Amino acid sequence: MNVCVQILSGLDAKAPAAIRVDVKGRTLLLDAGGPLQADEPCDWYLDQSPDAILITHDHVDHIGAVRWLPETIPLYCTPTVARRLPAGRRWQPLPRQGTVTIEDINITCGLAGHSLDGIWLHLDVAGGIFYSGDFSFESLLYPFDRPPQAALALLDASYGLYTVNQSSCHDALQAKLNRASLLPVPPSGRALELALWCQTLGLSWTFDPVCQKYHAALQGLPAKLLKPGIHQQLDQLSPLPWDTPEDPALP
Ligand SMILES: [Zn+2]
Repeated sequence: MNVCVQILSGLDAKAPAAIRVDVKGRTLLLDAGGPLQADEPCDWYLDQSPDAILITHDHVDHIGAVRWLPETIPLYCTPTVARRLPAGRRWQPLPRQGTVTIEDINITCGLAGHSLDGIWLHLDVAGGIFYSGDFSFESLLYPFDRPPQAALALLDASYGLYTVNQSSCHDALQAKLNRASLLPVPPSGRALELALWCQTLGLSWTFDPVCQKYHAALQGLPAKLLKPGIHQQLDQLSPLPWDTPEDPALP
């Protein structure tokens, strides 16, 4: 079977993720990443008109260019990720754990251990093409599902050669938490993990209204989508009241 895989964007330094797969006369776009910084160039989407768009998770470098692609292209993602689509964008569900047929291609999805409702994709063509956006085996919250065998694996290694394990990161960070600290991280990513960790340390902590919404979303997820015992810990989170205006006037 003739398969062509093109990395439209995402090589070298951390950059928007976009991978084009041409197979069986169809074109799938895996992720539609937008720029992480306002002044970062991003033009990979020009002249692209895939038959379907599949989004792995809701971070801007994987979903941010959806707004520039034609609305008529069918788009597939998980329900929580759909909340971050442009207003009114139509979408169809990907299973968090299971198989779906899109454009005559069987695609298996599993949890990637990186963010709320974030998944990897396995295309059942040419011996298997496995693609994961960001993924982690170390999350306190999110499990990583073992994917099927694949002849080709495309892994987002945007954190490069950073090989420090999470417990060492915790040690380094904890040493800096002896005074008021702001920890800016994606609400669907590490935010809830940091909240759980701060609670474990007995620190006084809080999170903003966006993180509070994700906290509620996690509590509503089936237990099998989170690591064992996490539901109970989420129920016991006790942030300080959030009393900062949501839209403070800039000085
Ligand atoms: Zn991510």
